[in-house]
Parts: sequence; structure tokens; C-alpha cells
Amino acid sequence: MRIQEGVYWYKEKGLLDANTYVIKDEITVLIDPGLENYLGRRLEEMQEDGIDPKEVDLITITHLHPDHCDATASLKEVSGAKVALHPSQIEYLDIMIEEASRFLGIGTAKKFAADLVFESGIGNSELKILHTPGHSPESICLYAADKKILICGDLVFEKSVGRTDLPFGNNEELKNSINTVSALDTELLLPGHGAIIEGRSNVKGNYEFVREVYFKHPHSYL
Ligand SMILES: [Zn+2]
Ligand SMILES: [Zn+2]
Repeated sequence: MRIQEGVYWYKEKGLLDANTYVIKDEITVLIDPGLENYLGRRLEEMQEDGIDPKEVDLITITHLHPDHCDATASLKEVSGAKVALHPSQIEYLDIMIEEASRFLGIGTAKKFAADLVFESGIGNSELKILHTPGHSPESICLYAADKKILICGDLVFEKSVGRTDLPFGNNEELKNSINTVSALDTELLLPGHGAIIEGRSNVKGNYEFVREVYFKHPHSYL
């Protein structure tokens, strides 16, 4: 569904799936293709919004857990889009997909290779990349400074934060990453699971809530 001009949200379809976002700007970027089983439905929903899969220029991934990246190889085939990864994701590409799939007790997600590597931004649009480890070491957030939108993967959710008990997770890094992104001027927070958070004061209130609940009681992490 269209959230605002050029910004689309495709809700997660099941337990091992994730939210997909599409940003249409100078280039069209799809973030987190989700689980392979649901790719057909996702593409149908996009088409209902007038987005042809072949319009997608770049596929990016907030991190390499299968619920976010399983459908990457198939989506690349269908769309002809390029897969753009962060250097930390190149480093963990194979090991994370294998370890996380094993941890979650599912078959190993389909592997894929990077066509492009980015460091701090995508294209000449204002889509900035922030390396935000903690939930996993190769987690990134995408920040559209012009639209004040943060796509945060599994770093922070509505009234919750990313778990750190998966392979290579790190509690301290998660807190530092949340502190980093909470300083950004954000009017729309788009997490990898659950609801989106709209409005600057709601986004701010959510950071305050997770700091209060999860930073002080680290063992109550979901
Ligand atoms: Zn994850
Ligand atoms: Zn996830």
C-alpha cells in the first residue's frame, strides 16, 4: 500500500516474513524482499499500486536474516534489479544466511551475490545508509533525509527492540545503534515487523519507551 508520495509498504505475511518497503524517487529501491513463499503475493500487491517489478532498480536488505532476504535471488530474476549491499553485509553474506537459517530451524535461504556495494548512500538521491549493528553485525538503516523517513529493519519496533540472541547479536551495540538513530529527525519510522510509526512525537515517544523498558531490563527483550 502507498503510505505517501513515492513510499510504499507491503506488510509481512507470516511469522518468518518481514515488511517490504519501496521508495520511488530518481531510482526505485525495494528494501527487504521477505520470504520466498510470499514473493508472488507481494508482486501482485505492488502491481495493484501500479509498480511493475521491472521498475525496481535496486534491491537492498536491512540485514541477512532469511525473513528479510530469502526472496532476493528470485526477485532479482523477475525484476532484473541490481542487489546493493553494505560492506558489512558482503563480509557476512554466506555465514549469516547459513547460521541464521540453522538457528531458526528452516532450510537455508537462497543465496545471492551483490551487484553493487554502497557505503553511505544510494544513488544521488537523499537515501543515506547507516550501519546499525546489534540485532546482527551487518544490520543497516536507510534514512531518507528529505522525507524524514527511517527504515530500521529489526533494530527497533513499535514498543519493542530487535532480539540479540541470534548468531552474532550484541546487546551493547543494539543500544548504541538505537541511540544513534534516535537523534535523526524522523517523522515516519518503518520497521521490519509490525506496525509503522507515524508522526515525530510518536517516533520520539517510542524511543523513550524502549529506552525505559528494554535498556533498563535487558533480559526482557522479545
Ligand atoms: Zn532479523
Ligand atoms: Zn526480522
